[in-house]
Amino acid sequence: GKIVIAIDGYSGCGKSSTAKAVAKALGYTYIDSGAMYRAATLHFLNHYLSPSVPQEVDKALKTLDISFQINPDTLRQETYLNGLLVEDEIRAMRVSERVSEVAAVKEIRKALVAQQQKLGKHKGVVMDGRDIGSVVFPEAELKVFMTADLETRAARRQQELLEKGDMVDLKEIQTNLSERDRIDSSRAESPLIKMNDAVEIDTTNLTFEEQVAQIVHLAQK
Ligand code: C5P
Repeated sequence: GKIVIAIDGYSGCGKSSTAKAVAKALGYTYIDSGAMYRAATLHFLNHYLSPSVPQEVDKALKTLDISFQINPDTLRQETYLNGLLVEDEIRAMRVSERVSEVAAVKEIRKALVAQQQKLGKHKGVVMDGRDIGSVVFPEAELKVFMTADLETRAARRQQELLEKGDMVDLKEIQTNLSERDRIDSSRAESPLIKMNDAVEIDTTNLTFEEQVAQIVHLAQK
């Protein structure tokens, strides 16, 4: 039968591209929880709201609507913020630089986790993030914890951004990844941790196809 697959891990390990390919291979639904924190962050930025001011967090949550839609041409899932397509904008450095601060706010996590649990309430789902195996789906049948060397992660992320025509300095990407890892792992509210029942996959020396195949294999056991 269909199961729930939770993929957690550090920033830039290739969680989302891997999760997407695993979902495709299994005929499952893929949900990018990081895209939701990114869209929420863009909302704060667009409205000049501060995640450290409770009234402004309230205001942001009252006016925040995040949804996903499949692009009929590419068949890719895309993120919408209050009805506007923001898929590319949420990957930009200006969002990456603020997202962990927004994601550390308890009320924001509460709202997004509730939406994630609703989106994933049917089996046959792959969700990637930081707290999927610990908080969103603690009962997931398969939990994966992805890691990779910081240098490898930064180089891969730089390539991804380049493919979108976004040239970013390698050092800047490295700093952003390690800074997000630091904030995500040390926050009070559902910090990034490897669960005891998670299978760790270090992708430093794996090809993309290999990491996808490993997870598909685990799912079929
Ligand atoms: O997965 P992605 O790198 O797009 O996530 C962006 C940021 O969103 C993470 O660095 C983290 O701060 C936050 N996040 C989170 N919990 C999740 C997914 C993402 O806190 N489940």
